[in-house]
Amino acid sequence: MRDRLRRSFDENAALMRDLREMNATLQDRIAERTRDLETLAHTDLLTGLCNRRKLDEALAEAAERAGASGAPLSLILGDVDNFKSVNDRYGHKVGDQVLVAFAALLRDAVRPTDILGRWGGEEFMLLCPDADLATATAIAERLRQRAEATALPEVGPRTCSFGVATLAPGESTDSLVARADAALYRCKRNGRNRVEASSGPWPEVVERGAA
Ligand code: GH3
Ligand code: MG
Ligand code: MG
Repeated sequence: MRDRLRRSFDENAALMRDLREMNATLQDRIAERTRDLETLAHTDLLTGLCNRRKLDEALAEAAERAGASGAPLSLILGDVDNFKSVNDRYGHKVGDQVLVAFAALLRDAVRPTDILGRWGGEEFMLLCPDADLATATAIAERLRQRAEATALPEVGPRTCSFGVATLAPGESTDSLVARADAALYRCKRNGRNRVEASSGPWPEVVERGAA
């Protein structure tokens, strides 16, 4: 009787050990899966860069940090020039390949602390913490030159235009993006394959920030 009880006790203990191990494995798998899903939710599926959702989050965080520390924060918006003509001439699939190649080209050229993503369509955003307007403009110029000098599969070299803006004290992230976008628009108006920097926030932005 005692032996039977002893055996049963040992079997139960072994069972509990197995269950605990299974539970730990399951928790590891769930954590891994959660990480995968988070990565997926933040990734642009075509280029593998951050997607717009991640850029929005990163921009809000970077602006908060810059506001707290007083360090500069600059934003660069890059847009492939005449990209529609790539699709029209070579087809949408080649257009997609060009976007992938552009993404790789930009990724290879930026600092590890900068955040690069696809803002939408053929537009890319680069967040440069700790970079003032002159530094960010120089970064954009380096990207522009690299784009111009890189032959892409099937279509050869294509150019890109870049709008640059630096966060002003009290300025909203929406205003910062709008200023970079306006600078980008100026590039397009002035002939493309250019870098244009926003000279400063509009008066109403300063007033809002100061209020
Ligand atoms: P601009 O120099 O003024 O920027 O001219 P553009 O032709 O680059 O700009 P436009 O806005 O006229 O056209 C953008 C094109 O980008 C149109 C759209 O079909 C294409 N596009 C947007 N997203 C994708 C994509 O994911 N894949 C492909 N292949 N094309 C895309
Ligand atoms: Mg565009
Ligand atoms: Mg374009």
